[in-house]
Amino acid sequence: MKVETPTIYKTAFNCPHCSALTTQNWYAVFVTLIGEKRRTPSLPDEELIERITNSKEIPQNVKKDLVLEYNRILTGAPFFKKSEESSYNPPKVNNCFISSCYNCKELTVWIHDKMVYPSDKLMVLPNGDMPPVVKQLFNEARDIVEKSPKGAAALLRLGIQHLCKELGEGGKNIDKDIASLVQKGLNPMVQQALDVVRVVGNESVHPGEIDLNDNKDIAVQLFSLVNLICDQMITHPKSVEELYSCLPKKKLEGIKARDSKKN
Ligand SMILES: [Zn+2]
Repeated sequence: MKVETPTIYKTAFNCPHCSALTTQNWYAVFVTLIGEKRRTPSLPDEELIERITNSKEIPQNVKKDLVLEYNRILTGAPFFKKSEESSYNPPKVNNCFISSCYNCKELTVWIHDKMVYPSDKLMVLPNGDMPPVVKQLFNEARDIVEKSPKGAAALLRLGIQHLCKELGEGGKNIDKDIASLVQKGLNPMVQQALDVVRVVGNESVHPGEIDLNDNKDIAVQLFSLVNLICDQMITHPKSVEELYSCLPKKKLEGIKARDSKKN
């Protein structure tokens, strides 16, 4: 399944709320000074909602909209208030943007090019067969990638080193380990991709070390590569084995006998 990481440079990506790969509409943010009387933001509470609900002065239709809006504020999620006519142009907030999902209508809040809401977890999930020690590093990298792509890349290179060990390699020399995995069936293109993101090769970065040249793109590619190695070296062989074990025994014996004759 292809995952498009949320970014301010695209009009479609996997929604951080509903996960759907769909259109995102982008909005600039304008502000209004909170009135002289109140001066601080005000949030409704259950008691206020109850007072409104029981009020005899507020017209029924107004009451319904108000309760709906206040209950929604209590969820903590940002959302668009029904448009209010304004006679002046409110000031725009630079470096603050909102994207709205075509599918679930939920809003995502961005400061500069960083997603700050719903959460800063990356959409990429670890392969289901990933060894626990690698999965832990993978998830830790997901937690920090928005705030520190360099930190995430360092954790992911460490994850690849541990993954090599889990796959029966030495875990000391990644170049050697990956070359050995290619001998055992890893696609050579994965090895080349690992060279590009400096896991292997002449410019490789030591696992777990912070490298100033790392950025979010490299981190995102590293997430995909960890998943790809797990997919090719664990998940795929496992599913072939499962398929094999389901085949009728007699047929398999016949095939074995045939193959041994050939040799
Ligand atoms: Zn959505």
